[in-house]
Amino acid sequence: MDFRAFILGVVIALALIYLLLAVVIQRLDREPGFRSLQVGALAGAVCIFLLSLQGMVSPVLSVVMANALGVLSLLMLWQGLYQWHFLRAPHRIWWSLPVLMLLLGYWFTQVQPDIVVRTVVVNLLMLVPMVGLASLLWWEAPRASSKALHRATALVGFVMAALTAGRIIVAIGLGLPAHSLFDPGWPHITLFLGQVVGLLTLVMLIVALLVTHVVHNLRNAAGIDPLTGLLNRLGFRTRVQLLLQSDRPACRHCALMMFDLDHFKRINDHHGHDVGDQVLRRLALDMQAAAGPEDLPVRLGGEEFALLTFSEDPLAQAEAIRERFASSRAGLPDCTVSIGLVPAIRLDEHQLRAAFSRADRALYEAKRLGRNRTERAAPAAAEHVYKRAAAGD
Ligand code: GH3
Ligand code: MG
Ligand code: MG
Repeated sequence: MDFRAFILGVVIALALIYLLLAVVIQRLDREPGFRSLQVGALAGAVCIFLLSLQGMVSPVLSVVMANALGVLSLLMLWQGLYQWHFLRAPHRIWWSLPVLMLLLGYWFTQVQPDIVVRTVVVNLLMLVPMVGLASLLWWEAPRASSKALHRATALVGFVMAALTAGRIIVAIGLGLPAHSLFDPGWPHITLFLGQVVGLLTLVMLIVALLVTHVVHNLRNAAGIDPLTGLLNRLGFRTRVQLLLQSDRPACRHCALMMFDLDHFKRINDHHGHDVGDQVLRRLALDMQAAAGPEDLPVRLGGEEFALLTFSEDPLAQAEAIRERFASSRAGLPDCTVSIGLVPAIRLDEHQLRAAFSRADRALYEAKRLGRNRTERAAPAAAEHVYKRAAAGD
């Protein structure tokens, strides 16, 4: 088999693996960022397929389009990873890279045929999303449950970037003969290795995210809300049972607050669900920062949270969380929270259940009175009257 046929076979196999990955992602659960990863895999498949046409069709169709799709593919993977970690998408300016690549590629084929200049510029543009992707993987690794796998994928990503940087350095240092994917020699080998390592990065990325996904589900089943890291209802119930069984005097009296974000639907509508998720995480962090070691912060569901607290001054604690959350943060839209507070509860099952409906009513009152405020629940005796009045007695 001649060299060209061998390379062609490998290149087409790579393209098919990319396609296969796109299909695999399609069959996975809908997770934030997976749609971007899928488009990234598809763009990678078409990119490699176009490279295999090199020499058979015009360079504009093969090399120029392939380079633009290569950058697009890397950007989509980068974006997918951002979305996965509930962060914002990379800055919009990076979307100009594929367009720039297309325009420059066209210019190189028509006006500026210098192979060294072309190699340097094209590879510099490729380097941006490669380094972005690998760095994000590296820095976000501690937050992922598959830390080692994230780091390993980041390292493979850095190898891909190093190969690309190496091509730039060698092209400047040694000059570069005209070459394509099918010419034997070092330029082709680095190009070829770059494709293989790029594919490896994608495979590892998907495996790393899948492992994280599975661990998230396990944590959820174990009582922890995967988005915020707070307890979920199940975890809360388990912890409260433990508290009820404990006979520590310090745990006999507590307070309960319920939180509901104000006009949260607007945040989702105006800024997207991912930003909404990040706002939810923000509140969880603020609650954790204000919570004492025995307190139980919980995400009840959606944009509703609660805090069972043993603080001496629960009103001050609620206000601290509310004010901290309302102070604006760089990169996040402004949002406020309303709080319903039941200040003194004896910790037993009956009182706690009653406290949830009292806190809920106080929360409703906080919303009615204009939001971004803490309302104390009426004393239990007054609640009794309230219930009778509501019942029409
Ligand atoms: P109000 O001030 O009266 O509470 O208004 P609101 O818009 O906050 O209340 P509403 O109950 O109408 O909207 C709650 C929204 O919360 C709707 C839903 O899309 C959003 N939501 C629920 N769970 C999640 C989640 O996990 N992530 C995101 N981003 N949004 C969520
Ligand atoms: Mg709500
Ligand atoms: Mg709300």
